[in-house]
Amino acid sequence: MTIPSIEPERIPKMSRKFVLRVLKWYRPQTVRLLIAVFFILLAVAFTVAQPLILRDVVDRATAGGDFSQLAIAAALLVLLPVLSSGLNVAQNRILGTASASVTFNLRNAVYIHLQHLPYRMYVHAPPGEINARLSGDVQQTTNIIQRAFPEGLTSLLRLAGTLAVMFSLEWRLSLAAMLAVPLLGWVARKRNYAARKMAINAMQANAALGLQVAETTQPNGILSVRLFNRLQHEIERYLLLNRQVRDLEVAQNNLSANIIVLTSGIAAIGTALVYAVGGLLVLGNAFSIGTVIAFVAYLSGLYAALQILSSLPQGTAMALVGYQRIFELLDLETENLGPMRSDLPARAHGELRFENVTFQFNDEVPLRETARPWSVRLMGQSAQPSLTDNAANALENISFSLNPGQMLAIVGPSGAGKSTIFNLIPRLYDPDQGKIALDGQDLRDLPLEWLRQQISLVSQGIYIAPGTLGDNLRYARPEATDAELRSALEAANLAEWVESLPHGLETFLGQAGARLSGGERQRLAIARALLKNTPILLLDEATSHLDSINESLLQDALFRVRRERATLVIAHRLSTVHDADEILVLERGKIIERGVHKSLLAHSGLYARLYEKQFISNEKD
Ligand code: ATP
Repeated sequence: MTIPSIEPERIPKMSRKFVLRVLKWYRPQTVRLLIAVFFILLAVAFTVAQPLILRDVVDRATAGGDFSQLAIAAALLVLLPVLSSGLNVAQNRILGTASASVTFNLRNAVYIHLQHLPYRMYVHAPPGEINARLSGDVQQTTNIIQRAFPEGLTSLLRLAGTLAVMFSLEWRLSLAAMLAVPLLGWVARKRNYAARKMAINAMQANAALGLQVAETTQPNGILSVRLFNRLQHEIERYLLLNRQVRDLEVAQNNLSANIIVLTSGIAAIGTALVYAVGGLLVLGNAFSIGTVIAFVAYLSGLYAALQILSSLPQGTAMALVGYQRIFELLDLETENLGPMRSDLPARAHGELRFENVTFQFNDEVPLRETARPWSVRLMGQSAQPSLTDNAANALENISFSLNPGQMLAIVGPSGAGKSTIFNLIPRLYDPDQGKIALDGQDLRDLPLEWLRQQISLVSQGIYIAPGTLGDNLRYARPEATDAELRSALEAANLAEWVESLPHGLETFLGQAGARLSGGERQRLAIARALLKNTPILLLDEATSHLDSINESLLQDALFRVRRERATLVIAHRLSTVHDADEILVLERGKIIERGVHKSLLAHSGLYARLYEKQFISNEKD
């Protein structure tokens, strides 16, 4: 199997700043790490002492020496391994806690940061990317504390201790043992390079597989699969991705197995050399058999330590890639929360003003994608062109004003920029030029949380959280009383429907509100908006899914609540905006006509044409 080459930018540069930033996450664990270091030191000392005791046992036994001394040495040979494994268990538990605490803190920081990122980031980030970073990458980082730190330190200390004892015992044997080391180093380098490539590719392949599942098992995804008859296509796609994951797993395993064979072979040659040189020296009475046996024991420890040390850079590199990708996310700029202000009333008056507002979507992709390039490459498709390549302004010179008790309607063809106007009001985006003001104050001078508290937006993509009907209503205002819930439901013409449900407000709505009809969903969204009870109400095609009887009932309800607030309405069905105080007709981001229904009809422009068309088609109905 050929492994695609990894992009060099995926391997983090070990700058001082980056290392210090990684270390910062371990600072709260200093005490735990110090205790673990102490345990590791003791465990290594016990391990390094064992071959020396073994030598003593062998030499005493062969020389027929003192039995009681022999018994003590033999007892030590049993005791020391038990002690060092006890210490290892303790050290493992301490580091396990430290590792869990680091990932706990990382996850919290990433999630809190995510919640503060601007809305546009979610619109443009590749799907699945955020989740990949929050779960996969955070998991990768645990390698540092669970493997690299204890195994690296243990092996380094063991290496240093073993070498010191070996050279102090017999320098000629030590030199013979060292002959195999450069070979081991060469194998490790080759292995690390191949393993790192495979690990990064495995990470991408797994992410692509996860994305495929996520996209094709949510209600809307599965609906497309079924209705476009793409079942076979999706299954084949999954099989292909899954095969890649399997092949990479097999390749990773094979690599490890080959390496074990190779390094064991080299270690065996080293050991044979020691036996040969040692045997000759024993024959020449240069030292005892016990020394040769101790040497061989040291040698296996030495090679094991070298092997562990040589495998660590790969896992560490993966953990560092994880950190790099987490930092990339943490470095994304958060939403500007606006100034802190204590001079604002809890409820705004509700006077809204757009002054020459111009806006263009910026299509930058905030996070490099893990998953998609892989699947795109597999499916032989090219990357998607950007939505806003050579884009014109989404909005140009938009001006209007609206007072409490008034209703402003925005109409116009699809894609004219109507929803974009709405998105600017709760500052999901900020205008590039011009100003939007609430009660005479630029939105940017108001605290964001306060501003959003003044606005209810019923959008086209209505979010229904997993949970019950009551939970979804209370999402708008957790402290709402049952009576308030009921009156919002009545206003949205939903009360009867809720009463007819066996579990009433406790009815579970399923994933993304899958059990609701389009009209029920819209009415629930309106009830939620009314419950929030804000001075600004934005309705984006809020009644488009309703039949005409329900729509007119709801229009009556909305007519009543309009008196206390400024209402902006986007509507395709022009009959619903007859009585608006002003109607803006938008085309390609510009206001091309404005006025009240009658004057617009008299003007015989786009509005009149649209109205006529709808009127005629209604007549036909
Ligand atoms: P409709 O009546 O179909 O809902 P609309 O008038 O509400 O349309 P908008 O949703 O405001 O239209 O979109 C205006 C234009 O901006 C469209 O051309 C759309 O493709 C583009 N657009 C919308 N959102 C984005 C985005 N996040 N990034 C880039 N372009 C966008």
